[in-house]
Amino acid sequence: MANTVKLHDLEFMPYLTESELSVIVSGLANRINEKYNGKSPLFVVVLNGAFMFASDLMKEVTIDCEVSFLRVSSYRGTASTGEVKEMMPIGTDVSGRDVVLLEDIVDTGKTMGEIKRKMLENNASSVSICTLLYKPDAFQGDYMVDLIGKEIPDRFVVGYGLDYDGLGRNLPSLYQIKPKS
Ligand code: 5GP
Repeated sequence: MANTVKLHDLEFMPYLTESELSVIVSGLANRINEKYNGKSPLFVVVLNGAFMFASDLMKEVTIDCEVSFLRVSSYRGTASTGEVKEMMPIGTDVSGRDVVLLEDIVDTGKTMGEIKRKMLENNASSVSICTLLYKPDAFQGDYMVDLIGKEIPDRFVVGYGLDYDGLGRNLPSLYQIKPKS
């Protein structure tokens, strides 16, 4: 893993290596394969951040399934705006489907809460949330996050699909914001 990276005005230090991420992703895939054995869920990848995670996860999901995409945005810089904008609708009928939302990170939980609500409004049979990362200290939701890869402290992270103002998504491992000295 490279050393510290600089994106725009901020510095980030190595946090989770590619192999640590791979172990976390395999664990989630195993749990999904068990939980949805005999079912045919619809995975909805929440873009942009979840693209790398979803790509690695889906290669290890062995049950019958469909994959669709939804693009939302609620972050500016390193803080959530609290307002969830749906920018690319799913385009797949979710009624009667077991939906699994694939998210890179659950922070305040507003984004997933809003998407889950919309899926249930559109008559999905069930909606589960599968997230690579979860910040328990920032979470304000009144719902369960079903499948969590790893709980992390409430500090901004980049890499493995996650960006800071557009940069850093292509880093293969995860970096955490460096405290200002
Ligand atoms: P929430 O609605 O849970 O507050 O925020 C969810 C979204 O905020 C995530 O999909 C992600 O795009 C963004 N986000 C939350 N925490 C972080 C973080 O530490 N780093 C980055 N790059 N994005 C984050």
